Amino acid sequence: MKSLDFSSLEIAPELIAVVKELGYEQMTPIQAEAIPYLLTGKDLIGQSKTGSGKTAAFALPILNKIDLEIENIQALVICPTRELANQVVTEMRKLGRKHEGLKILALTGGQSGREQAQSLEKGVHIAVGTPGRILDHITRERIELGDLQVLVLDEADKMLEMGFEQEIKALMKELPVKRQTALFSATFPEGIQSLSRSYQRNPMKIIVEEAEGQSASIQQVVYDTEPEHKLETLMRVLQQHPSKSTIIFCNMKNTVNEIAEAIAERDVVVGSLHGDLEQRDRDRVMTMFRNGSLPILVATDVAARGLDIENLELVVNYDLPNQTETYVHRIGRTGRAGKSGTSVTLAGPRDTMKLLEFEKLTGGAFERPTLGFKNQLGLNKFAFQPTMQTIGISGGRKDKLRPGDILGALTGSDGLKGSDVGKIEVHDRYAYVAVAQGAAKDAFERLRNGKIKGQKFQIKIMK
Ligand code: ADP
Ligand code: MG
Repeated sequence: MKSLDFSSLEIAPELIAVVKELGYEQMTPIQAEAIPYLLTGKDLIGQSKTGSGKTAAFALPILNKIDLEIENIQALVICPTRELANQVVTEMRKLGRKHEGLKILALTGGQSGREQAQSLEKGVHIAVGTPGRILDHITRERIELGDLQVLVLDEADKMLEMGFEQEIKALMKELPVKRQTALFSATFPEGIQSLSRSYQRNPMKIIVEEAEGQSASIQQVVYDTEPEHKLETLMRVLQQHPSKSTIIFCNMKNTVNEIAEAIAERDVVVGSLHGDLEQRDRDRVMTMFRNGSLPILVATDVAARGLDIENLELVVNYDLPNQTETYVHRIGRTGRAGKSGTSVTLAGPRDTMKLLEFEKLTGGAFERPTLGFKNQLGLNKFAFQPTMQTIGISGGRKDKLRPGDILGALTGSDGLKGSDVGKIEVHDRYAYVAVAQGAAKDAFERLRNGKIKGQKFQIKIMK
């Protein structure tokens, strides 16, 4: 049995201090297996479920290895979507906060390529991005990869699913052959094996199985419905299962829009997430969902994949996913960390076989209660009242704003109680702060009439 103690790792003491500060008490199983191995510089294939701490598993060895004096890219992390790339950047910046002068750059679409090129020009130690944008920088000769030592392919199966194979192949050609390559994937179809064969050397395979009875705390409910009554059934499901954090999964973005509109018509605050949204809108929706300002999120799988959302009470499968693994991913977002959760699936007459498969795989019996008919007309909007409200600030990291400055502006000189202030997220050019519903007006006025770190910003209550 490997030690789960971070201090058993042969890494820089600052890194061990940081994980302590972040409140990580011990390593997760994938970290305990992968970190010591990656520290040896060898190639690795890793698999473990979403939320098991894979980012830190590769980030800590990378941070340990980076030479800050060399202002060239030494580690490159490739992710399937912007969201995932941004999450990796956030986690790596957190873990690297004692590395003075460390520069981590996101290379994703939806942000200006020119600005990225300028940052690359100034020097970057770690780059994290999506295949298309990275390749674009390579093609335009804006990126220097001669000092690259570590390559990470994060959620590799998803990248193949999304059709990034050609891009990955093309950009691999540009990387130094002598490097360490780590590949993380939830599944191992032939495509992944061939990717590994082509680009890794004797990789060690580390698979962390889910614990027995993993889904025991997730109640899985199925309601039968006909396609033409689906929307109405959904509304009744929401009445029956009021919750402060619900994700409704659909297979297509048109359905996402349709449902979000139908819920909004019933005066419930709802957000939607699919591949066609602007980066800024996605960021806003995810922030608001995470910080408690949005009780319901309607999403496609791709848009929601890998999102680090904790304490989800309810997952609704409006459409059945086509793959069993997707079902497991979806319902795995609830019932985390010993909390109980509910998954509701709307099933049509033709879904019987699929349901049997899902039931078998999750090892839990489905419940099939009948759905009540009460209050046909609408949702009880009070049951879905968000606990928080998000305030947007027109300044961010580039304006030298830090979370502490915003907290200070809100709570200083007889201001809000600290307990009324929730998550604060500072982006490059804007920031979001969550405040308790009851304190939102007060917070808004304070920020609008006052200054933050001596500067005036535009303040907005986000809807
Ligand atoms: P994965 O990539 O496996 O889906 P992440 O790397 O996104 O998971 O981690 C999920 C969450 O767990 C993040 O919020 C991260 O900060 C947190 N985390 C990572 N390692 C630990 C740890 N050892 N102890 C507690 N929390 C951790
Ligand atoms: Mg991850």
